[in-house]
Amino acid sequence: MISSAPQRGYVWSCMAQFNGGGAQAAGPWLNGDGTWDLTRKLTVDGAVEWPHEFTLTVEGGKRVFQSNDLPDHVTGIFPISPGDDAYQVDRNPNAIRSQSVRLELPAEPALAPQPSCIGGEVGIMLSGVLIFNSFDAEGRDAPANEVQDSCQGHPQQAGLYHYHSLSGCITDTSAGHSALMGYAFDGFGIYGYYGEDGAELANADLDECHGHTHAIEWDGRIVEMYHYHATHEFPYVLGCFRGTSTVQGPIGGQQGQDGQAQPDQPGQTGQAGGQPPQEAITACAGLTANAACSINTPNGLIVGTCQLPPQAAQLVCVPAGGGPPP
Ligand SMILES: [Zn+2]
Ligand SMILES: [Zn+2]
Repeated sequence: MISSAPQRGYVWSCMAQFNGGGAQAAGPWLNGDGTWDLTRKLTVDGAVEWPHEFTLTVEGGKRVFQSNDLPDHVTGIFPISPGDDAYQVDRNPNAIRSQSVRLELPAEPALAPQPSCIGGEVGIMLSGVLIFNSFDAEGRDAPANEVQDSCQGHPQQAGLYHYHSLSGCITDTSAGHSALMGYAFDGFGIYGYYGEDGAELANADLDECHGHTHAIEWDGRIVEMYHYHATHEFPYVLGCFRGTSTVQGPIGGQQGQDGQAQPDQPGQTGQAGGQPPQEAITACAGLTANAACSINTPNGLIVGTCQLPPQAAQLVCVPAGGGPPP
């Protein structure tokens, strides 16, 4: 399922090594031949509501997203309760936590001469929630192996709620061609399951990156433009990026991956110990890893670079010369 070049039905992943951590048992909906039965899949119980905060604006050629990553729909109860039948397959021990996500994507994305590989996070959906690639922390088909809630989401170890496939809780409002459901990190749109004639799309209808080009409505205009589509087949949403520029998400771009701290490894759960100071997080808002940053302190300006600490969901400004942020 992982390829090192664009290939239809595969994910061209920037990362080939996965650290493990995911569902601990095979669900009875797995057919054993790589296929699985959506209708038999368990979901995590619960209908928890969240204080969703999400804004989307276009400023200076950029599409700017600010989100706390808490969805505009209900979620299941996480950590998964021992009383939930899903617990027999997946013991996701993580709680959902508010995040501070700011993303700037090109408002008018352009096709690159060559596609590029995708990292852990691939886009943001109109529910305010990030969408990851199709892999769990072991490099397996995440929608097949992990038990998610009834909106196809679950939290990773920093509490960041995310999808691996199109969420059924984002309503596809249009007849014929599907509605816009979100944006990939190269700025191109992510649409639902249906193509121009209103028929459901399969991988065979799309290119290696899981998209195609035809006239779509884009910011109120009809334009001939590349875009991605969701399918019910692996890789579900994106196989690679077609755009010229991509941004890095909060879990760390190309090397970021999904992960669940396992219940027998409590040390990995959440951000144990030393939460970085808010100023160090704010200093890296909207920046990418290794970008220069500065923190204003009573003792003067401290300069450094934005780094992603282990288990952290956000970049933190680390003073030059290493050491903890002030
Ligand atoms: Zn289309
Ligand atoms: Zn996941």
